[in-house]
Amino acid sequence: MSDNPTIFGKILRGEIPCTKVYEDDTVLAFKDINPHAKVHVVLIPKTHITWLRNATPAQQQTLGQLLLAAPKVAEAAGILKSGYRVIINDGPDSHGEVPHLHLHILGGQDLGTKIA
Ligand code: 5GP
Repeated sequence: MSDNPTIFGKILRGEIPCTKVYEDDTVLAFKDINPHAKVHVVLIPKTHITWLRNATPAQQQTLGQLLLAAPKVAEAAGILKSGYRVIINDGPDSHGEVPHLHLHILGGQDLGTKIA
């Protein structure tokens, strides 16, 4: 974790604050600083994977833990019943900025029928 220079590494190390929504041994979820929906939570693994495209079979467990945590985060954020959308940005067209794998969990409103 100490060799993770990203903003999310800093959040994990407590070097910059966040509004925590959910945490367990393997993941941390916090409110996005620039929300794109009424509820917008960022969910990250505590181990550092840069981008989805760089994930390896050895990191399968981490990837599974991340997905399995999503409904727990939604429940903690109060949007499990109403529903939510999960987004991962990867690559230039996605405009992903932070090279620490994360799920965007969006909800708290009708998100419409288009994916983005
Ligand atoms: P990306 O574009 O990499 O998929 O998503 C990065 C997300 O992290 C953006 O939605 C952005 O608003 C959020 N973000 C960037 N810096 C911070 C920060 O310091 N704190 C929090 N809570 N969110 C951040």
